[in-house]
Amino acid sequence: MSTYSQVIALSFFFSSLVLICPTECGAALADELLTPEEQLFLHEHPNISIGFDPEFAPFEFIDDDGEIKGIALDYVNLLNQRLGTNMQVVKGLSWQDAINAIKNKQLDVLPCVGKTDERSSYLQFSTPYLDYYRVIITRTQHPFISGLQDLTGEVIAVQAHSSHAGYIHEQTSFPVAEFITLQEALLALSSGKVDAFVGNVTSSSYWIRKLNLNNVKIAAPVSHQVYNLHFAVRNDWPELISIINKGLASISYEEKNALARRWINIEYKPGISKQTFVISLLQVGTAAGLIVAIILYWAWRLKKEIHQRKLSQKALKRHVTFEHFSAELSSQFIINSATELDKGVNSALAKLGQLLAVDACYIYLLDPSRDMFCCDYRWDNGLLNQPQSGLYHFKADQIKWWNEELSQHREVILNTPDQIPERAQAEKALFKDMGVASMVNVPLLYRNNLIGMLGISSSAQRNWKNFELDHLRQISATLTYAFQRHRMEQELQTAIKDAQTANHIKSAFLASMSHELRTPLNSIIGFLGLVESELAGPLNFEQKKQLRMASGSAQHLLNLVNDVLDISKIEAGELRVESEQFDIIELLTTTCENLMPLAQKKNLSLQFSRTINTLSLTSDKRRIQQILINIINNAIKFTEAGDIIVSCQQTDCDFEISVQDTGIGIAEEDLDTIFEPFRQVDSGTERRYEGTGLGLSICLKLLTLLGGDMEVNSSLGKGSCFVIRLPLPAQDSV
Ligand code: ADP
Repeated sequence: MSTYSQVIALSFFFSSLVLICPTECGAALADELLTPEEQLFLHEHPNISIGFDPEFAPFEFIDDDGEIKGIALDYVNLLNQRLGTNMQVVKGLSWQDAINAIKNKQLDVLPCVGKTDERSSYLQFSTPYLDYYRVIITRTQHPFISGLQDLTGEVIAVQAHSSHAGYIHEQTSFPVAEFITLQEALLALSSGKVDAFVGNVTSSSYWIRKLNLNNVKIAAPVSHQVYNLHFAVRNDWPELISIINKGLASISYEEKNALARRWINIEYKPGISKQTFVISLLQVGTAAGLIVAIILYWAWRLKKEIHQRKLSQKALKRHVTFEHFSAELSSQFIINSATELDKGVNSALAKLGQLLAVDACYIYLLDPSRDMFCCDYRWDNGLLNQPQSGLYHFKADQIKWWNEELSQHREVILNTPDQIPERAQAEKALFKDMGVASMVNVPLLYRNNLIGMLGISSSAQRNWKNFELDHLRQISATLTYAFQRHRMEQELQTAIKDAQTANHIKSAFLASMSHELRTPLNSIIGFLGLVESELAGPLNFEQKKQLRMASGSAQHLLNLVNDVLDISKIEAGELRVESEQFDIIELLTTTCENLMPLAQKKNLSLQFSRTINTLSLTSDKRRIQQILINIINNAIKFTEAGDIIVSCQQTDCDFEISVQDTGIGIAEEDLDTIFEPFRQVDSGTERRYEGTGLGLSICLKLLTLLGGDMEVNSSLGKGSCFVIRLPLPAQDSV
């Protein structure tokens, strides 16, 4: 016998000693407790029959050996002994039989029943002496319920004639399936014939274990109310109820506990056979093992995922850094000089080295055209003879291996730039000797010519990651772009320089030529004038006419030469402006007076409208007069009828001179071009107006030299207005 069984047996033995007293002891107590009437009743009823529910374990039931047992039966025995009653179980009745029998007064007492309205019609109930909870039992896979209200529409099983059946009928309108025994009801639930079962938690648990129903669970309480169990007596025997109540009242709290403990201990244990226990243990063990395995697997998966995530995050971070770097690099490479290019390349290489985190590596840029080798140098095997790692920038001849063993490689780069595979081959050989185990290169091309090589090399065998190569290419593209821009910039600068030199030579040539032309021209004009004045002898009409024509042409030629000389001098930067103080109003008056005959010749009115009488300016008087003559002359030239009005005004910082005419005007599209040299609106072979097309260009250039400017407003067919602005220093204001 196991230790556990021994303990149970001993406890049962001592409990029995306490509870079972001799009959004399019972008789003495009955005299003390019962009234004479009650004692008479017992005398008149020496045998009291008891019915019971054979399946109401652990309260009352027949065990596997056919013995009637249960807590209620212990109470019956105790009361018999204490009160001297002789309550005896009638065997062979089912619960239904017992109910029917007591209804018909063929039975006297039911020792363990719940109270219902229906039962109250034929039974009287003692004070409660046992209690239980009423619960709902469902199959394990039934969804969660919190009470009866969640079972609407579902079929509920109850034991027929039980207090639970009464309760369900009274409290709900659910479909109810009644079963003769509690086991049948639970089996029906387990096999899915009904949806739920309502019953006493104590008995139900007992039968669930006993029947080994693994697929049912106690799902929810019907209520939190505690249900009572009573002795019930046929309703025509009120004396017996009183007697039983007195007997029950005599049972102490400790005695009640001892009875309950005994039955709970005894009944729970036999419910689990050794085999069931082992099976359960195995099941629990397997389940626990499975759970542990799942947890371990889950933990392993989690660890793996975290590792993976960390790797991805790292990769992402590097990607982001690379993206950022590439963008930064692009913005850095706005290169205007070779020094800036070198600085950019240096920082690109240094950063690339940091980002790729390649151990022991060279990150290099070969620039054969400049004989340059930029290198982020990470490990020293004596090749570069540098004391520590860092970024170095070498001229080719500073690197000892460049010229000695590996000059062949340089030759390939310099002499066969288009043959990239060959170059790569040579480079491989070069770096193999340097102890490089792994390298990648991206060529930098300019107009299909190799201009450099961006590469990374590592002393360790290494698989270059795709993103590293992508970024190398990206950076190489940026570098290529920078190189291209740099080259184009260089080419452009050279072209501009060449053009400037050519222009300078041209201007110098024109200036000296003009000067050379002016001298004989002046002499021609002078001699023509002498002949025309007939100082050398009289001339006939025709001779005079021809001489005037020759003189006009010579004058025109001189004007042209003068203009060319001016513009050449300005472009060659050789025209120097003078600075003297003069009265601009006076200059304007004189200029207008001088040009008056020309205007009158064309029947035009030339007016100088002034609001100021005098204004002193410090500038080049001669050049300003040249400008005024040119502009007023043009106004006269391009006007056939009407007025030419010259006016002036002083503004905050300028002195403005306007020359307004009523001439042919200038179309809007021509307004921008008339200030360019040799530009004339009417430039065809049949043009009506004489001129070189240099006047306005010279005027604008002179004004610029004098710190002023000029603008024109014109409307085709209506006239033009040229506005000349001269700077007005504070000391020049009136
Ligand atoms: P030129 O007068 O010798 O042709 P300019 O440089 O002085 O050269 O003028 C350029 C052109 O601008 C002229 O040919 C003419 O078409 C136009 N132009 C200049 N002034 C006027 C004006 N007052 N009215 C109309 N057109 C003008």
